[in-house]
Amino acid sequence: MTDLLDRLATSPPDEAQALALVAWATGADRPSAGPGLAAAARERRARVRGAVVGFSPKVFLPVTNLCRNRCDYCTFRKSPGDEGVWTMRPDEVVAALDAGAAHGCAEALLCLGDTPERAYASYRRTLQELGAPSTAAYLARICELALERGLLPHTNAGILTADELRLLRPLNVSMGLMLESSSDRLCEPGMPHHRAPDKRPAVRLAMISEAGRQRIPFTSGILIGIGETPLERMQSLLALRRLHREHGHLQEVIIQNFRAKPDIPMHGADEPGLDDLLLWISLARIVLDDEVVIQAPPNLSPGATRALLDAGLEDFGGISPVTPDYINPGHPWPQLDRLADDCARAGSRLQARLAVHERYAAGPWQDPAITPCITAARGALRRNWGALAGAPRAEEHHRVTPPCGQLPRAVTPPLSGAERS
Ligand code: SF4
Repeated sequence: MTDLLDRLATSPPDEAQALALVAWATGADRPSAGPGLAAAARERRARVRGAVVGFSPKVFLPVTNLCRNRCDYCTFRKSPGDEGVWTMRPDEVVAALDAGAAHGCAEALLCLGDTPERAYASYRRTLQELGAPSTAAYLARICELALERGLLPHTNAGILTADELRLLRPLNVSMGLMLESSSDRLCEPGMPHHRAPDKRPAVRLAMISEAGRQRIPFTSGILIGIGETPLERMQSLLALRRLHREHGHLQEVIIQNFRAKPDIPMHGADEPGLDDLLLWISLARIVLDDEVVIQAPPNLSPGATRALLDAGLEDFGGISPVTPDYINPGHPWPQLDRLADDCARAGSRLQARLAVHERYAAGPWQDPAITPCITAARGALRRNWGALAGAPRAEEHHRVTPPCGQLPRAVTPPLSGAERS
């Protein structure tokens, strides 16, 4: 195993070696395996990214919390009539985007429940009132509103068809869909995805693959601690690696740890421990190809910045100075200047980045009409967050000057004038 560890610091293992690593790292040798894997993961990170650890300053738009699935770990989803059910109206979208722009955000994250129009007639009526023929068309309009304010859209809308991806591609600098797990077993009765038809692994892998065919820079990831085995976790990572090796489009893979909440069916389930999360951050860094950035949300592991970085973490994902984490509302974002200090103490440099990584920020990954928006957002990002030793105060933020007149537009009927804000 020592020989293999030496090689892992410079190149990923083959699939047989990756599966052997899981047996080694979760068996009797676990106490020595963890540090060895972490050292190899840190070396891989240092060789490719130096001391930089990224985050994306974002505004979070929970476009609708209606969802046709019922994952046993979810606090976000609602059905019509539930308390707290919410579909954002254009004026609410605009208010959130304006707040994000005023606080130096560079990303507009559009996040929503899965395929609600397939399940709920009341939501289909809402779309009609909004003048949108579909959720995807409404998302396209929101992306236009974001671009008009200098914010770069990243849409994670659950399962989308090839045509819906094609519609949204020119208006998004990147898109996302968590794989969560490639295990069909988690969809069996009594398992967390049993009542979630859109969580069938084949459906998700097919969409991630289609995004690759359409050259959409993509974010995916796995959710650990929902009943999967270590072997299934590795099989999930390898499934993502295969898709990336076919299409080259996975810019990020998130390792997300399940957190229990009182109001979910899995409220009594054990959460994965920090050691478990760290091991899988290290394994993900080792197994995935260099260009795939390994990410974990810092608000789900508060106080563990140094440990996350020591495991080989490369990115904290989106962090919002203006909106909560609507998916995990009990877990506030870290304060950015404090996070920067913690990173510095761990020998890393926190650096703001765009919602698209530089490797994917131009053709063939981007539509020509959106590249001026990327250039403008990059400039504002540098001015706003260039020296992050102490995040800038809101009044110091520079708004992006969007490249007016050249903004990409959706090829769909626009919302009616009364509904535009
Ligand atoms: S996790 Fe996503 S797909 Fe599952 S119920 Fe929640 S919103 Fe729906």
